Amino acid sequence: MSKRVWLILLGILMAALATSQVVLRSDTIALALTEVGLRSQMVPEPLPVETLTVVVCGSASPLGDSPDRAQACIAVLTDKHFLIFDAGSGSQVRLNQAGLPLNRLDGVFLTHLHSDHIAEIPDVNLARWAMSGTAEPLKVYGPTGVSQVVDGFNQAFGLDRGYRVAHHGEDFMPKTGGQTEAITIAPGVVFSAAGLTVTAFTVDHHPINPAFGYRVDYGGRSVVISGDTVNTPRLWAAAEGADLVFHDALARPVLEVMHRVALDVGRDRAAKIVMDVTDYHAGLEGLQASADAAGVRRLVLYHLVPSPPNALVAGFFKRAVVAPSIMAEDLMRFELPRDSEEIQGP
Ligand SMILES: [Zn+2]
Ligand SMILES: [Zn+2]
Repeated sequence: MSKRVWLILLGILMAALATSQVVLRSDTIALALTEVGLRSQMVPEPLPVETLTVVVCGSASPLGDSPDRAQACIAVLTDKHFLIFDAGSGSQVRLNQAGLPLNRLDGVFLTHLHSDHIAEIPDVNLARWAMSGTAEPLKVYGPTGVSQVVDGFNQAFGLDRGYRVAHHGEDFMPKTGGQTEAITIAPGVVFSAAGLTVTAFTVDHHPINPAFGYRVDYGGRSVVISGDTVNTPRLWAAAEGADLVFHDALARPVLEVMHRVALDVGRDRAAKIVMDVTDYHAGLEGLQASADAAGVRRLVLYHLVPSPPNALVAGFFKRAVVAPSIMAEDLMRFELPRDSEEIQGP
């Protein structure tokens, strides 16, 4: 290439760099671009269609520190109802990013009361209250003990509720709407409205008892959320013929390496915790075969133990399933039109 061409290319590069510096430093340009971005995000809620929609609002377990994954959360929507299953740390950001209608959130269903499934309840609750202006408390369904969790959050956030009402006005944010209401459930049908049914069943996350999984049915379509469990026949019995099963998944070989390295560097407490974790989650081996035997159409691995920090670890989860089964990523979205066999999604 001639010297003249090089000089022209260098000039173009310098001009691009100078322009990007001007853009980054200009409030006016930054605000204009921000407005364009907000207008593309804050679109009106789409007209309801008769579809069972499922969104991954959190796919991580507490083990691992991937910034790309929130902790356990699966959102399920129909034209009339919106439910979330667990609300782990970071899931509120994912619900917002997915553009889900928090103003019409009907309830949070907890699989069990471990911290990584409940930590985001206050933020989800605040978002629902602020977006809806409802006077109705958010219903939080869960196993025995859920009232202790809910009472604690209500007490801890009592001052915050007062501040919000004082600032925005009781008419805009009625104080009772900022509360959460515990609903203690047992296995069986726990929610039924407008053709949407939620059935709870027990799983095996010993010593956490009870721990539930949930099956959601709507318009001939179905999705199952395992919560935390080992691979148990009870779940596959409940998941018989389901369109989608979101299942807890643990990459045992990776945890064994983590355990060994922690021991070698003298981090004995970390080594013990990593080993303890292996006995109450589902190892990858056999999950796809169990799903196939139950006639499940797509298995989606979530609550990943550990949350994969890179492609090498992610490979263990990806190789454990056969397409169209898949490893979950945050913000994955599946659409199941009623009375069909179609699954639109990644
Ligand atoms: Zn757990
Ligand atoms: Zn968990």
